[in-house]
Amino acid sequence: MENKLRALLAQVQKPGRYTGGEPGSVYKDRNDVSLRFAFCFPDTYEIGMSYLGMKILYEKLNAMDGVWCERAFMPWVDMADTLKAAGYPLYALESKDTLTVFDMVGFTLQYELSYTNVLAMLDLAGIPLRAADRDERWPLVVAGGPCTCNAEPMADFFDAFFLGEGEEQLPAVCRLVQQAKAQEMPKNTLLQKLQEIPGVYVPSHYTISYLPDGRVEKIVPDAGAPLPVTKALLGDFAHYPLPESFVVPMVGAVHDRAQIEVLRGCVRGCRFCQAGFIYRPMRERDAGMLNTAARGLCDNTGYEELSLTSLSTSDHSQLEPLLDGLLEWTPQRHINLALPSLRIDNFSESLVSKTTRVRKSGLTFAPEAGTQRLRDVINKNITDDEIDRACTLAFDAGYTAVKLYFMMGLPTETMADIEGIADTAQRVVDLYYNNPNKRKGQAVKVSISVACFVPKAMTPFQYCPQDDEATLHEKQKFLINCVKNRSKKISVSYHDSRISFLEAVFAKGDRRLAPVIEKAFQGGCRFDGWDDQFRYDVWLQTFQALGIDPHFYANRPLALDETLPWSHLDYGVDAAFLRAEYQKAMEAATTPPCNKACSGCGANKLAGGPCFETA
Ligand code: SF4
Repeated sequence: MENKLRALLAQVQKPGRYTGGEPGSVYKDRNDVSLRFAFCFPDTYEIGMSYLGMKILYEKLNAMDGVWCERAFMPWVDMADTLKAAGYPLYALESKDTLTVFDMVGFTLQYELSYTNVLAMLDLAGIPLRAADRDERWPLVVAGGPCTCNAEPMADFFDAFFLGEGEEQLPAVCRLVQQAKAQEMPKNTLLQKLQEIPGVYVPSHYTISYLPDGRVEKIVPDAGAPLPVTKALLGDFAHYPLPESFVVPMVGAVHDRAQIEVLRGCVRGCRFCQAGFIYRPMRERDAGMLNTAARGLCDNTGYEELSLTSLSTSDHSQLEPLLDGLLEWTPQRHINLALPSLRIDNFSESLVSKTTRVRKSGLTFAPEAGTQRLRDVINKNITDDEIDRACTLAFDAGYTAVKLYFMMGLPTETMADIEGIADTAQRVVDLYYNNPNKRKGQAVKVSISVACFVPKAMTPFQYCPQDDEATLHEKQKFLINCVKNRSKKISVSYHDSRISFLEAVFAKGDRRLAPVIEKAFQGGCRFDGWDDQFRYDVWLQTFQALGIDPHFYANRPLALDETLPWSHLDYGVDAAFLRAEYQKAMEAATTPPCNKACSGCGANKLAGGPCFETA
């Protein structure tokens, strides 16, 4: 590390975020590689290092001949300001080379409120923000991740978006860029060729026109550009090898543990959940394969915590055999098993006994809504009885804390549904105190966490408006009052509705928002998802200065037949299915999960066959 950087690091908190050199990080000779890829995470090191997708793709790319993939994270504000003041460009952790020397700079877009951080990272690196201002001399700036299902507000800043699963797609892109570099191919030609790779979307090859009322009129592709752009799907997920090694962070990551991805996609069809729709169809890995991979990963990383990761781990058809296999070797090696994403309705006695062998602090469930009616609207197919049964099982097994996740502002919600949140929490408290097996002398703790509903692209609720700020405040106040009149054992936390508002604006936004993001960034916005950094005043001033109404995006109901800013993108699920699900929601009619009955969403066309034997 050069002395100048060493001196800068002495001025900031947690310099370990910026030094690299962690076990498992990959070093190559820069003169021996023909393609350098900077994998950029537009949030802190601690958050980025928890992200499984980065670990998968880092290993995958570094296994390729002639390719070196390095990492870069958004420096925290002290480091960002220090780098800027010193004129020291943002660099990748492994080589410490500035991002401008890389052939590709690839971001993962996990969250709409990291968009200003993307611009901040490009700016710190000295890379022009807009794709139109970058010719062959600059790195190709690309992005993947869930937000690319509608990253139109960021379209002007990127050369290409990668839709869908990157394990096979990204290596194909890298091979093409290697060839293009060897042939000194002009950028335009490279972009033409890139769009032939499944799931590669070159936004500059599409022209968007707007109606006088502000809605999208048409999306017209240039000659040769695909319409729609269909996401890439990993052909054989079930047998696709899992990562054998991880970079083990030196500064505590949020989730600092070994992770094995047990399944991808979700069978449930909760109508608000973008991940549940864009990762369809659900595919799972064999229990034996997962056990072997988990053991190898723990050996290679030395981790003492192993997480079975997915959108809905308890839906894995072989979960119990998998846990039995893991419990044969994890306890004697003091490896703690973490089972995120448990479902209330398949939380069985046997499952609770297996999880309690390794963890007995608190349990987390997500009923999402406080009444059966509203749970039917959102297609969260769980009943009050199932909530009661799961909590009783947990209390019988010695748990004393339950965290319940809810959303506020869901379509069709009334104050009775808000009161239902408090009622549900009270019922759980009562269940504890009426339980003869409860821990003696130990009080129960029921925490309810209430997020604001954010309508997202590619879901049946994409057509729904978000509640305005005043309505959400009123509902929050009402909930606090409801809880005040109930047990002292209930605590409530809720999200900043202004942050959720901005998230909705960008989640359903179009390309006309690019100048807003750029100007807000120039006005000092970054780390917008962080309460202590969020500058709502700057955002509002920016919308006003540019004459753009954010409520048009967040608070307007969309017509079922309008062209949406993301209508040219295809994640497998048919638009007709989303419309039908929206209409069923308005009637509080439910749709069964995929493993019970196929509802014909269309995503099986990507996998080339029925998703389930029942289908
Ligand atoms: S095609 Fe059927 S089983 Fe497959 S994801 Fe869609 S609804 Fe589910």
